[in-house]
Amino acid sequence: MVANHARKNVARGRHAVEALRSKEAAERVVFVPYPRPDLDGAAPCTDCHGVGLGDGFYEHPYETPTPGGAVALVVETFCGTCLGCGRAAHSGCRPDSHATYEEDEFVEDWDEEEPTEPDCHSCRGRTFSVTQGAGEETAASIEAHELLMARAAKLGFSEWDIRGAYAFGELDQMLGEGSQELATRSDTTVWLRMPCGCREAVSVTVRRDQLAESMGRS
Ligand SMILES: [Zn+2]
Ligand SMILES: [Zn+2]
Ligand SMILES: [Zn+2]
Repeated sequence: MVANHARKNVARGRHAVEALRSKEAAERVVFVPYPRPDLDGAAPCTDCHGVGLGDGFYEHPYETPTPGGAVALVVETFCGTCLGCGRAAHSGCRPDSHATYEEDEFVEDWDEEEPTEPDCHSCRGRTFSVTQGAGEETAASIEAHELLMARAAKLGFSEWDIRGAYAFGELDQMLGEGSQELATRSDTTVWLRMPCGCREAVSVTVRRDQLAESMGRS
């Protein structure tokens, strides 16, 4: 189910987001805190330990500094394994707790259980939007990509063929066992949580060198 959602989002194109590098420690940035996922007793995702977030975060520079002197908005990434719900197995998670959720897929049962008229029509009460970005390649992702392409070349498939089959979860049938897993490892897609304006009231301005602590990540 999650793979199907991802496929649609890939077609939307990538958005340029400037990666966080070693910038001035004293510079101020804005970040927007969010509550951790409610696991409701479910086993936590082994990658993010139930936090629902990836290790990396990005910065979205402001054209002009905020009144508080911040030069950029810090954007967190969703955990690439659970896609944000924080659960090891996708049992009982709200559809909109995943980065790949799309509004038109909202399950009616959930609407009935929690009948909430959205306060914000921009995000329909979700308080953020999700943007897809390209993460940095790692030695492991490059190696996986090369192994995958070698399999593809042997059987005469192009990279384009491979991407299509990957999106549909059909690489094992196409290239042999372990291929879907290789493609997953070579995938550097990141899902960014872009805070909605309706959550601005809780945003925090901090020095960059105090960011990790403020975010509860230190
Ligand atoms: Zn996770
Ligand atoms: Zn889930
Ligand atoms: Zn909103």
